[in-house]
Parts: sequence; structure tokens; C-alpha cells
Amino acid sequence: MSITVPSTTPATPSPLTPSPLTPSPLTPGRQALDSALFQLDQAADQLGLDDGLRTMLATPRRSLTVAVPVRREDGRMDVVQGFRVQHNITRGPAKGGIRFHPSTDLHEVTALAMWMTWKCALVGIPYGGAKGGVAVDPASLTPRELERVTRRYVNEILPIIGPEKDIPAPDVGTDEQTMAWIMDTYSVNAGYSVPGVVTGKPMTLGGSLGRAGATSRGVQISALRALPGSPEGRTVAVQGFGKVGAPAARYLADAGCRVVAVSDVTGAVVNLSGLDVDDLRAWVEETGGVYGYRHADALSHADLLELDVDILVPAALEGVITEENAPRIRARLIVEGANGPTTPGADRILADAGTTVVPDILANAGGVIVSYLEWVQNTQAYSWSAGEVEVKLRDLMEQSYDAVAALSAERGITLRQAAHVIGVGRVAEAHRLRGLYP
Ligand code: NAD
Repeated sequence: MSITVPSTTPATPSPLTPSPLTPSPLTPGRQALDSALFQLDQAADQLGLDDGLRTMLATPRRSLTVAVPVRREDGRMDVVQGFRVQHNITRGPAKGGIRFHPSTDLHEVTALAMWMTWKCALVGIPYGGAKGGVAVDPASLTPRELERVTRRYVNEILPIIGPEKDIPAPDVGTDEQTMAWIMDTYSVNAGYSVPGVVTGKPMTLGGSLGRAGATSRGVQISALRALPGSPEGRTVAVQGFGKVGAPAARYLADAGCRVVAVSDVTGAVVNLSGLDVDDLRAWVEETGGVYGYRHADALSHADLLELDVDILVPAALEGVITEENAPRIRARLIVEGANGPTTPGADRILADAGTTVVPDILANAGGVIVSYLEWVQNTQAYSWSAGEVEVKLRDLMEQSYDAVAALSAERGITLRQAAHVIGVGRVAEAHRLRGLYP
């Protein structure tokens, strides 16, 4: 994999800073990485970083690709690819989720790891950034096959993870059960229980109160901070009704908003009078997806993003708001539950149109904040109440939001640019203070 190294004085036009409006024939993973590098380059310009530091920040510290052989139920052996990228560990151990998705590749995992680095620095928790992935569709595996894939993948990345090195968490296609298998595989190898090796675990194994809904609670806090005026009756559309999107819909409804449309991989549904989020979740539980929900009309995936709503929450995958559909986006506020849903080309169009975008590294940081609190509880062998966790989460989210909004207003830059200036700036400062060994 080649990563383009940023330069303030490129001899030839840098592929890092293409016009973001130029259509790209690249894979989704490479596009995500190009977006991440473009955002880094913009922040580095604002911060006046030299070429050496830019190169350091653009380059992942460790990238591991592994083969994951899996014995299928019929006796066949399949081999899938797995990845773990530690983008930066200057401020602390690497931290980031593990994704099981068929299109996951090294570029995508690298982009996601880089965003984790800036996110942890932005919200002021002492972690670097990492991400992992296995190129597999979990829905195509039986539960026993899924457990074998998970344990074998963990065994392959075992040398580089650990509570003081790199701490995985759930992401797309993984959940509490996946984290339980990871904790068990690591602990069996260590010879004793190591709860702090993963976060997002079940409560029985050392999980934290408030972790399951933490990312979504952060999305709600960001949305309420960004909304001018009362949330009462504000309309919401949510793309992706999974671990982030479904509770985010619930939290926004709790705040008085009217959730009018949601989508998942099976389809999209709309009811302009408002959806009963709990009833819809029960339907998804029963049928496997939102498709066919009886108290709503069907909608196309594309149309959901373009609905005339107050708040749009993309909470599925990267690169869904592009320069192609951005001119038709009518939401006044976009709160990014997903990582990297908006491309740089779309960002520019939305900014020109006056649409506020609360960027991923801020909006969805609630998950890693409570993951950090879970890890702190694990390392102290002590548990906090739900109230204590909630207060710490809310304080960190609100402080981070306010710092980003203040810098955005002061410099006349977007919230995404301001969030990156703060996050990248803190990591750059840590590099400067530590110096270069030897
Ligand atoms: P998940 O697997 O629980 O849910 C993903 C949802 O997106 C599912 O409902 C799926 O059906 C839906 N989806 C997939 N493709 C879609 C499409 N084309 N259109 C509409 N819906 C589609 O994953 P998650 O953990 O909720 O993660 C979602 C996003 O949030 C990812 O970008 C992830 O990196 C980010 N994120 C997750 C966490 C976390 O704590 N889980 C934290 C921060 C960020």
C-alpha cells in the first residue's frame, strides 16, 4: 500500500490535494484514505506544520495484514484477509474498533485509524488511533464460523494488541459477543483474565454502564449543541439503523425531535408524522431489517439522504454524501454518526450552501470516550455508576464541541476543519515534545 506523503511544496501536483471536485475511479477504501489525507493536509496548513511532521502524521506507525483461515460447517476451508493498523501511538496506546465487512481493505482501515488518532486527541483522552477489519460478511457465516473467524483473527494480531498497546472495540459487523471472544482468546493466551484488552464488552466481563449507547448519546449531544433553538418537533432522518443509528434515533426522539425516516441495508422507510422508534426496533429484531415496516412507506436509499429534514444522521458507512448528491441534500444540519460519510468535495458544496456538518471525529466520539472510561475501570478493577459515566461523557462531549465551535467561529473555518486543527495540533505537539529517537 502506498500512502501519499503530504508536502507543502510538491514538485508536481500532489495526488494528496487533488481538486476534491474531481471524480475518482478509486476503491471506496482508497477514497476514504484520500479524504483523511486531504483533511490532514488542510489542518497541517492551518497549523503551519513542516514537511517532516506532516509525513510522520500521514504515515501509520504499524500496519499488519493477516490471513485468516476458517473451517466452514461443511468441512471446507476458506481464507479471508484481516488487518490491524496502528496509525499513531504518540499520546498513548492505540485505540479503535474492529470491522467485519466484505469490502474492508487496508486503505479503509488506515483511514479509520487516522481518524481515531485525531478523535482521541480532540476529546482529550490519552490514546493513539487504530482500527482493525476482516474482509468478511458476518451475515454469511454461522455463529460457530463467526466465532472461529474472530478467534483466529485475534490470534494473528495478538502480538500487537493488549491493554497497554492497542485496545480494540466494536464497529460495523461486530458487537459485545465479538468483544467477549476477543477478551477470551487474549486471556487464554496470557494465562489469566485481561478485561482491559477490549472495550464494548458485556457487563459481566467488565463492560461499562453506558457504553452500548455512548456513541449515539454523543450524536444527540452534538446535535442539540449545533441546533439553533429548541429540538421540539425537529425532523430527523437516520441512515443506518445499527448500533449507532438506532439508539441515536431513540435519543433524538427523547429530546423532542420527530424521526421521520430511517434506512438500513434492507431498505429505507418514511413516515412524515413520525416513526415509533421502539416499535421499529422491535420490527427489525423480528424480521432482520426495516424493510416492510407496516407503519411507514418505502423509500429508496438515495432519497432518504435527500429528504427535507432538519437533521440528517448518516450512521452507516463512508463516502455516502458525495459531490454528486450533495447539491440535493436539504437537511440543515448533518451530524456524522458514521466515520467518513462526507467526501471533501461534498463538504465544500455543503459549506457553500450553509449546511452545518458536525464532523465524525467530534459527533461520534462518545463511543471512544466511554470506551476509555471502561478501560480505566478495568485497569482499576473498579466500577462506576451509570450517572458517573454519563456526567463524564457529557462534560467531555460538550467541552469538545464548544472548543471546536469557538475555533470555527474565530478562524472562519468549518467545524470539520476546526476539529482537525485541534486534534492534529495536539498530536503534532506531542511529537514535538517527545522528540525523535535516537
Ligand atoms: P452496525 O453494523 O451496528 O450498523 C450499521 C448499519 O448500517 C446497519 O443497520 C446496516 O444495515 C446499515 N447499512 C449498511 N449499509 C447501508 C446502506 N448502504 N444504506 C443504509 N444503511 C446501511 O455498525 P455501527 O457500529 O452502528 O457503525 C456505524 C458507523 O458508525 C460506522 O461508520 C462506524 O465506524 C461508526 N462508529 C461506530 C461506533 C460504535 O461504537 N459502534 C463508534 C464510532 C463510530
